[in-house]
Amino acid sequence: MAWGFATDPQFQKELDWIDGFVKDEVEPLDLVLGAEHDIHDPRFKKLVRPLQKQVQERGLWACHLNPEMGGKGFGQLKLALINEVIGRSRFGPIVFGAQAPDSGNADVLAAFGTPDQKKLYLEPLLANEVVSCFALTEPQGGADPTMIETTAILDGNEWVINGEKWFASNASFASFFLIMAVTDPDERPHRRSSMFIVPAATPGIEVIRDYGFYGHIPTHAHMRWTNVRIPAENLLGSRGEGFVVAQERLGGGRMHHAMRSIALAQSALDKMCERAVSRVTKGDQLGKMQMVQAAIAESWAQLRQFRLLVLETAWLADNGHSWKDLRRNVSAVKFVLPQVLQDVASRALQIHGSLGLTDQMPFASMAMTAYKMGLADGPSEVHKVTVARELLKETKPAEGRFPSYMRFEQEAKAYAKFQGQLERSE
Ligand SMILES: Cc1cc2nc3c(=O)[nH]c(=O)nc-3n(C[C@H](O)[C@H](O)[C@H](O)COP(=O)(O)OP(=O)(O)OC[C@H]3O[C@@H](n4cnc5c(N)ncnc54)[C@H](O)[C@@H]3O)c2cc1C
Repeated sequence: MAWGFATDPQFQKELDWIDGFVKDEVEPLDLVLGAEHDIHDPRFKKLVRPLQKQVQERGLWACHLNPEMGGKGFGQLKLALINEVIGRSRFGPIVFGAQAPDSGNADVLAAFGTPDQKKLYLEPLLANEVVSCFALTEPQGGADPTMIETTAILDGNEWVINGEKWFASNASFASFFLIMAVTDPDERPHRRSSMFIVPAATPGIEVIRDYGFYGHIPTHAHMRWTNVRIPAENLLGSRGEGFVVAQERLGGGRMHHAMRSIALAQSALDKMCERAVSRVTKGDQLGKMQMVQAAIAESWAQLRQFRLLVLETAWLADNGHSWKDLRRNVSAVKFVLPQVLQDVASRALQIHGSLGLTDQMPFASMAMTAYKMGLADGPSEVHKVTVARELLKETKPAEGRFPSYMRFEQEAKAYAKFQGQLERSE
């Protein structure tokens, strides 16, 4: 079993190129284009398209995909190292062809799409010619997707969809939707729903309102679907398999968010350190104050621990484990992520004083990102339950009234084990 932390020198060259490219070409885009990423905007075409072309020419486009889908097939570990760099910039994933929710939707289409569905929806999505939306959550049921009420009823050769969706990111400018709806209400909860592909131009799809976060443009839609008719063949995967299809996009997606969050937290830590050695108070550097040192040390250690968990999970995924097998790891990554990012961003904000709160600094936005990450793809509580349940499932209860590890019993066993040797040596 090979084991180590060294990066292959050939791949390190790619990482170095990505690092320079992100710093010089991509990070400045965040300052000019801000939160916007309308692919039809002339500014997007002028500024982003040429960078995407450079990434394609370098062979680094959509690295999360396997070679048969036009990706590099690098695997999760290398992807983690790439994401740790491109995650520094909001435009990083867009320039590298790996932005959510499109990347997860592409994974799903690749895994479950028919050849026709792939041609019609996956190919333009991979080329970033269109944007897509994933509509699962509903106003009455977020953390518990078995509560969804949107229905899809087969009427001759067409499915007819009715219902409401909530927090459907990018719905207002998506070209098509992946929507989950109840098709078999009499089945058990995880077999009731199916996934569908719906072109955005289909009549009956309405955005009631877009919601945004503090300081961000509104892109998360409350939607109403009224008698939306689509051909029978727009079912994605098998009937009743909605949960299986949804799961395919969530495992990888959660990991990719985590990999990019490492980049954000690292950048907060770097800024914290620069400020600590630059600012003087009480006649000395801020960084000489022990409580400031504690904030720096705790941030570094927390981030390294989190990174190890992410890399271990990526390594396991590259070594024959499916996301389903790895759900304990993925869930742990999912709930540790917001805590680490929130802690490091908050310490960085505090060490910058009033300046840290202003819009000149990224820390408030990072803290907001931490909250987003603690909710999107399932709240932290639900993931903690998953980890604990998995651990407890494997644990046998003690046979008697007292724990199996009472010291006097362990001692008696240990003495019995070594008795012969002890007697011989006496
Ligand atoms: C940035 C962002 C983007 C999103 N994009 C999409 C998207 O594109 N498509 C889509 O379909 N959805 C999307 N969502 C919705 C997301 O999946 C839901 O927000 C999430 O599943 C939680 O649902 P909810 O917001 O309705 O919270 P609720 O279900 O109302 O839960 C509220 C709170 O209750 C507590 N809670 C809930 N369940 C449990 C439990 N089992 N144990 C203990 N405590 C619990 C938690 O504190 C939780 O935060 C997005 C959300 C965010 C924040």
